[in-house]
Amino acid sequence: METKSYVLVIDQGTSSTRAFIYNLKGGSRHGYQLQSVASGRQTFQQYYPQAAWVEHDLEEIWQSVIQSVAQALLAARDIPDFKSSQIVAMGITNQRETLCFFDAQNSRPVCPAIVWQCKRSEGICQQWQEQGFEEIIRQKTGLCVDPYFSASKLVWALESHQGLKERLNSKQVLVGTIDSYLIHRLTKGQVFATEPSNASRTQLFALESSWDRSLMKMLDCPIDIYASVKDSAGVFGMTDVDGLLPHQIAITGVLGDQQAAALGQQCLKPGELKCTYGTGAFLMMQAGDRPMLSQKGLLTTVGWQVSGQRSYMLEGSSFIAGAGVDYLKDQWGFLNSADEASDLQVGASPDIMFIPEFAGLGAPFWNAQVRGTLLGLSRDTTRKQVIRALLEGVVFRVTDLVEAASADLSVFPQALQVDGGMSRNEESMQFQADMLGIPVRQQGDIEVTALGAAIIAAFGCGVIPSLQISPQTSSYDDLDQGQVFYPTMDLDQRAVHRAAWAKALQAALLFAS
Ligand code: ADP
Repeated sequence: METKSYVLVIDQGTSSTRAFIYNLKGGSRHGYQLQSVASGRQTFQQYYPQAAWVEHDLEEIWQSVIQSVAQALLAARDIPDFKSSQIVAMGITNQRETLCFFDAQNSRPVCPAIVWQCKRSEGICQQWQEQGFEEIIRQKTGLCVDPYFSASKLVWALESHQGLKERLNSKQVLVGTIDSYLIHRLTKGQVFATEPSNASRTQLFALESSWDRSLMKMLDCPIDIYASVKDSAGVFGMTDVDGLLPHQIAITGVLGDQQAAALGQQCLKPGELKCTYGTGAFLMMQAGDRPMLSQKGLLTTVGWQVSGQRSYMLEGSSFIAGAGVDYLKDQWGFLNSADEASDLQVGASPDIMFIPEFAGLGAPFWNAQVRGTLLGLSRDTTRKQVIRALLEGVVFRVTDLVEAASADLSVFPQALQVDGGMSRNEESMQFQADMLGIPVRQQGDIEVTALGAAIIAAFGCGVIPSLQISPQTSSYDDLDQGQVFYPTMDLDQRAVHRAAWAKALQAALLFAS
């Protein structure tokens, strides 16, 4: 008789926590499948104590974990033959870079978490740039100097909270990323651990080794206080949460959210890449087992570490993707809902260009002064044409990122895997395929981030033999499995669109100068 196994996943995101229960199916002959059979979701509050500051309450995050897991377990009761005792492993994926301070004894938060989006440490980053630290940081960590990463947030906290440094050094208080906080709390303080995909976002972790003492000294950060770094797949510890889980479950896989999405999208071989079009657009390309530093303005980061072996990724993002649609909806009243952007029935046009960067231009150009730029308006330009131009602007940004990553790696990708809210926009994804000249594979309802965490945990507990799985299907619900968009535009026409974008970008850069 077939024994059933399930994997419980916690997806701790920026605005909500979700829990999923995956059913492991198949076998060595036809491959393994992980099907999501039940889920739960709990939002939590965002705190904005000052302009451009963002905080989370770690206690609220913990409660959102408890509630989403409870909801998923409740929903799973409807699954025929489901027994909670068949949950063999837990996977965790999480918002990255967010910095947490918690009590070493009882895991309770000692101050608000400083969220990745928070810009409070901009001044510290400026100082680091003036001191000439940028190149050393890039060589060691693959990252640029930006308040986005955890190190400058830590320095800010040390300067701002009296006595914190002493409490960290005496190990009364622990500092870490969201994964290490959750592991500590889930194991009742038994385990203080992280793994390289999260650690490599702190800016204190060397791509090819581990926590870097010389970097810590240079940046004036404490030494020897950080979580132990384990493989991304393997036993981190056993859960010990009174009343919530049916039995103690081994936590066997942990990944940062973008890396988990890349694994869920099965970006396993060098050159395979995915883009998540959510609020912003996040591109990740598998770069293989060597930590290649980008010559094209992208970041290098750890993908995952299994059996002591690291894989690396090139990463680039556009700060605005779906957020541009939200802007046209909320500020200009051009749409009632984001879905309306899927039904524009306006053709692609190189005559109107919209650079959708309201908060500075990121990779691969990096110009913080650039602002949103709309060009080519005439008296008969319609609302729908402006929306279409914005969507095309996001597509051009992603096209530039894909080309930068391809040039770095000297491979041209075979296809782009896409997910996230804006990837539901069929006209945009068709245009993306046309601009890149490669197929674009959209994932429908499949939650690729959670799937990536399920894969790493299933591998970590030994129930699947590799990170490769068969495509996900589900018999439990009407799962939309997405579609593939093939390029259809002729090359001359594509060149016209691309040339118009290049000119528009020059105009935006000139205006910012
Ligand atoms: P996140 O995980 O960053 O919160 P999601 O993946 O849920 O984001 O995507 C939400 C974003 O996608 C919103 O900014 C929304 O405006 C955009 N979006 C949703 N549906 C569409 C659509 N059909 N066309 C364009 N953008 C869309």
